[in-house]
Amino acid sequence: MGAMQDYINRGESYILKTYQRYPIVLERGEGVYLYDTDGKKYLDFAAGIAVFALGYGNKDYNDALKEQIDKIIHTSNLYYNVPAVEAAEKIVKTSGMSKVFFTNSGTEAIEGALKVAKKYAYCKDPSKEYEFIAMNHSFHGRSQGALSVTGNAQYQEGFVPEKMRAVFAEYNNLEDVKSKITDKTCGIICEVVQGEGGIYPADKEFLEGLRTLCDEKDILLIFDEVQCGMGRCGSLYAHDLYGVKPDVMALAKALGCGVPVGAFVTAEKASYALVPGDHGTTYGGNPFATAAVSKVYDIFDKLDLVDHAREVGTYLFEKLEELQTKHDCVIAHRGVALMQGIELNRTVGDVINKAMERGLILISAGSNVIRFVPPLIITKDHVDEMIHILDEVLEEIG
Ligand SMILES: *Cc1c(COP(=O)(O)O)cnc(C)c1O
Repeated sequence: MGAMQDYINRGESYILKTYQRYPIVLERGEGVYLYDTDGKKYLDFAAGIAVFALGYGNKDYNDALKEQIDKIIHTSNLYYNVPAVEAAEKIVKTSGMSKVFFTNSGTEAIEGALKVAKKYAYCKDPSKEYEFIAMNHSFHGRSQGALSVTGNAQYQEGFVPEKMRAVFAEYNNLEDVKSKITDKTCGIICEVVQGEGGIYPADKEFLEGLRTLCDEKDILLIFDEVQCGMGRCGSLYAHDLYGVKPDVMALAKALGCGVPVGAFVTAEKASYALVPGDHGTTYGGNPFATAAVSKVYDIFDKLDLVDHAREVGTYLFEKLEELQTKHDCVIAHRGVALMQGIELNRTVGDVINKAMERGLILISAGSNVIRFVPPLIITKDHVDEMIHILDEVLEEIG
């Protein structure tokens, strides 16, 4: 038995089976390539699910983390720490928003954002019940609060307490959202580009309409930019593309580029709802995690990664359009910059497996969509390399 199969067997023995994992053990990365424990090389078009924007082994990033390890890894939110202050400042200055709360994950960023909206409504009228409007096919995380606004029965079933149920509206359908607003509604939450739901970008009129609606009702608009934020859509924050500002924004995934960290960011109006004692976390915003965040912002700047993502994204878009023309099994192509997807007329598991055999890592979004969320440092040559393999695989499956 090979070393890789041995790891897989042990993984099956000891790790709780909540994933149907692909049968490879990834050991190290270099740029946009990953290597498994047998030394096989893969071109990575998944980036650990839209996380590792910088690519693997960025020296600046690695050095910053090593340096921080030698200074201090953890203190507590009972005190200030330098990296957290610096990282929060960078988020505020780049977003034009007001305050930051660091979390350990995207899910926790959503939890915090939901609490802000509830508390904001509570401060106005403590006697009421509160309800959220969320979107069909959305994904916001797996905790019970975040799940409650996740519009996908597959994730929700059996896990959402009755009291936490949100009201779901059709994405990009403003009239549907309007028809669901009641005096209980305390917030509207949506992704700016839906990720897990199949790569659906919002329409400009839709986001503008949500903004107006929330202003009229004095309720909070929450944008989940956990996946679509951090340059992936060709602007640092996806909502910048639309010129529509949220009251609360959730970030994670590429925020720390692999170090587990998320954040919810509040606009001025939403910055005073939570007061000391209302929310907390032991690890959230610790110096190690926030040193990563701070460095990520520096490297984005230094490498002009957002412009780069937009440029390569345009190229990827053209190439995927060509692929769609060539293969009948590709029935749709959507997305922006380095967050794109193609929809097939069948489930995509087979395509992903065959691509993996040929040294290309792809991921799905739902059952019929292949999602392209590579490291942002990807080049046109890498796009060509990916398209070449995918073309062969699509040819083979017919
Ligand atoms: C991944 C994701 C989350 C959850 O983030 P975790 O870090 O997995 O908890 C929330 N919202 C969106 C849009 C995501 O893509």
